[in-house]
Amino acid sequence: MGGDSSLRPESGFSTRAIHAGQSPDPTTGAVVVPIYQTSTYAQEALGKHKGFEYARTHNATRFALENNLAALEGGRFGFCFASGLAATNTLLQTLSAGDHVVAGDNLYGGTYRLFEKVLRRFGLEFAFTATDDLQTLEKTLRPNTKMLFVETPTNPMMRLTDLRAVSAMARERGVSVVVDNTFMTPYFQRPLELGATAVLHSVTKYLNGHSDMLGGALVTSDEALADSLRFLQNAAGAVPGPMDCWLALRGTKTLAVRMQRHEANARALADDLARRLGVDAVFYPGLPGHPQHHLAKRQASGFGGMISFIPGDGSLEAGRRVFDRFRLFTRAESLGGVESLVCHPASMTHASVPRKTRMAMGFADGLLRLSVGIEDLVDLQADLAHALQDV
Ligand SMILES: *Cc1c(COP(=O)(O)O)cnc(C)c1O
Repeated sequence: MGGDSSLRPESGFSTRAIHAGQSPDPTTGAVVVPIYQTSTYAQEALGKHKGFEYARTHNATRFALENNLAALEGGRFGFCFASGLAATNTLLQTLSAGDHVVAGDNLYGGTYRLFEKVLRRFGLEFAFTATDDLQTLEKTLRPNTKMLFVETPTNPMMRLTDLRAVSAMARERGVSVVVDNTFMTPYFQRPLELGATAVLHSVTKYLNGHSDMLGGALVTSDEALADSLRFLQNAAGAVPGPMDCWLALRGTKTLAVRMQRHEANARALADDLARRLGVDAVFYPGLPGHPQHHLAKRQASGFGGMISFIPGDGSLEAGRRVFDRFRLFTRAESLGGVESLVCHPASMTHASVPRKTRMAMGFADGLLRLSVGIEDLVDLQADLAHALQDV
């Protein structure tokens, strides 16, 4: 398990991505961690086994991915789950009825739905607020607040939260800070280094990067939280299958080069959009006109591959015209794969968010979101120009 003892602790990101958690298979020397597709393990005699008993508890392919992701986020403990939401659900099971959670008001829609429609019924209390305003945030905390749940940047408005400031404030009050780092990935942003208690991922997105599996992960260096997560991962059972872990391990090996290309392409497309539509209508932390551009530079080493923009007058019709004209960008939900996707959040990923709430944050009916892939930039630029021709 995780026998990467040859890896120096100060190894660089790509070296860790390729080697952490993965040493040649002890039985055959296979360079790639095998898919241990088994549900149980033979015991030699009563009470005598190799440390592997049942696959919900022990699976070497999953352990490799867990150690790999922990190394990338700079945390001591990693836990993998069947999806990002399964990771969130398990994390929230560390709390008890009567506990209060403060979360961002522009969260991933599925996270909001899990909190509001499911976990509230079990006695957890939630408050949603703008986590980018430290004073408002502090006022939302109550004596029974146990957890702060943050996404930065938010989706699709690309607002940032100052992770160092928020973590310091929360820790002083004994509140743990969880950061959904799906958009930035540890290649660009490592919340644990900025003071967060735990990092959450939809492995489905950039970490796997090839749009061919679902997965989730949690990483922390907090030993008590890790003990609790290890217990719940097994007790509640939302574990990923070994095949999906193997796919994700193949994905993380190229995370650094993919993120560099996602970002280079996104920066160029954001510039094209801003020239055409004005910075007010383009939401990308890498644009010097983004209201939190300096914070983006301070707490992350890059700006990522996600862009939102509002074509024309912001109406649904204007958005639809552009959306339907893309030829290379695929019209689909999700993000973080090698292929470029375009999404209409108001009707797709954020359909459950009331229109009034959307409009209050500048999230117009026609807003479009791009997950910029790693295709050749000139082809993406040509497709975007074609889609925008009448705007
Ligand atoms: C997709 C996503 C999730 C949920 O992950 P699943 O793997 O789809 O369950 C959570 N947070 C963010 C930011 C996401 O994009």
